[in-house]
Amino acid sequence: MSDDRGTDDDDGDGARTFRFETRSIHAGQEPDDETGALMTPIFANSTYEQDGPGDHRGYEYSRTGNPTRDDLEANLASLEGAEYGRCFSSGMGSINTVCNLLESGDHVVTGNDVYGGTHRIFTQVYEQYEIEFTFVDMTDLEAIDAAFQDNTELLWLETPTNPLLSIVDIEGAADIAHEHDAICAIDNTFATPYLQRPLELGADVVSHSLTKYLGGHSDVVGGALLTNDPDLDERFGFYQNSVGATPGPFDAFLVLRGTKTLPVRMDRHCENARAIAQWLDEHPDVDRVYYPGLESHPGHEIAARQMDDFGGMLSFELDGTLEQASDVVSNTEVFTLAESLGGVESLIEQPAPMTHAAIPREERIAAGLTDSLIRVSVGIEHVDDLIGDLEQAIEGALE
Ligand SMILES: *Cc1c(COP(=O)(O)O)cnc(C)c1O
Repeated sequence: MSDDRGTDDDDGDGARTFRFETRSIHAGQEPDDETGALMTPIFANSTYEQDGPGDHRGYEYSRTGNPTRDDLEANLASLEGAEYGRCFSSGMGSINTVCNLLESGDHVVTGNDVYGGTHRIFTQVYEQYEIEFTFVDMTDLEAIDAAFQDNTELLWLETPTNPLLSIVDIEGAADIAHEHDAICAIDNTFATPYLQRPLELGADVVSHSLTKYLGGHSDVVGGALLTNDPDLDERFGFYQNSVGATPGPFDAFLVLRGTKTLPVRMDRHCENARAIAQWLDEHPDVDRVYYPGLESHPGHEIAARQMDDFGGMLSFELDGTLEQASDVVSNTEVFTLAESLGGVESLIEQPAPMTHAAIPREERIAAGLTDSLIRVSVGIEHVDDLIGDLEQAIEGALE
C-alpha cells in the first residue's frame, strides 16, 4: 500500500507536507485564536456584524459563507489533493451543482449503472431542459468514446459502481473526455479519497456524498465538490450561494468529526470486506461474489492500479430464490436491513425489491442484478461476528 497517499503537493514555498492520516485530522483546522478551543466551533449564526456598511470580516451571511463549513471544505480539499472544495446539503446537492454547468442543447455521457438518484436527476429533472444523456457501459472505454457527440460537455462516472462494484479506468475515461473538450466528473463516494484520488488521475471534478464514509456514522447527510480548476470552483461557489443547497454548521461539524477517523475506519472496512468476500467466495450456497479485491473480479487489475485498497462494499448472489435472499437479509442480527452505506455499522440489503425496484425485472436481470443478489456495506465490527451472522442467516434461509 502506498505511503504517499495523496501527500500534499509541495509547491515550492518550503511548507512541510503531511501524509493523509495527519491531514485528515488537522487540515483546515487550527485551534481557536481567542480560546484555544481545539475543535472548530459550530458557528450557528445566519448573519455577521459589519464594522461599517460593506466592511465585514470575511463573512456576511451563512448561505454565502460560514466558518464551520469553510474548515470542512478546506479539510476535504486537502484529502482529495484539490485546490478548492465546496460543500452542499447532500450528495444530490453537489450532483445538481455539476448539472447547473449545463445548458439546453448540451449532451452528457454517463454510466448505465450510476447511482439511482443520479439517474433520476438526469432523466427526470434535466432532460426536461433539453439536456441529453447517453447511458453506456463505462467499463468499455471504446463505448465511452463512441457515445461522444459534438455537443457533449460532460462525462459523469462512478467507480466502483453500485451494486456490482464494476471498475472504470479513470485515467482512460478522463483522457477520452479531454480529447472531446468535455469535463470529466467522478462520483468518488464508494472509494473515498483515502482509497482513490481521481484528480491525480486526470478527472476535473470529484463529487461526494458525505453521508456515506466521510461522515461515517450514519448521522448526517451532506455533499461536496472538489476541483483544481479556479473557474469551475468559482461557478460552484456561485451556485452554492444562488441555489442555496448548503449544509448547516452542525452538519459540517459532524463531517469534520468523521473525517478525522476516515483512515482507521477505511482500513478496517477493507480488511473486514476482504475476509467476508473470501469466505463467501468459498461458500457452497453462494453463486458469485462481486468484490474488486478478488482476483476473479473483472475489474481487479484496474482497481489494484488506481485504488490503494478495495473498499468496504460487496455484493453476492445466493444460490436461491428472491424469497430466500429476502429471508437472508431479514434474518441477520448484526447486519441491519437498510439502504445506504459507509457507516461504522454493517448494513445488508436486497437490490431487487429495494434500491433497484424501479427497474423492470427483465432489464434488471440483463444488467446482472439478479433476484437473489444481496448487497452488503461491511462495517467495522469484529469480522468473526459478521461472518457468523451471515452464516446463520444463509443457513436459516436455505433450510
Ligand atoms: C448516496 C449516494 C449519492 C447521493 O448522496 P446523498 O447524500 O444521499 O444525497 C450519490 N452517489 C452515490 C454513489 C451515493 O452512494
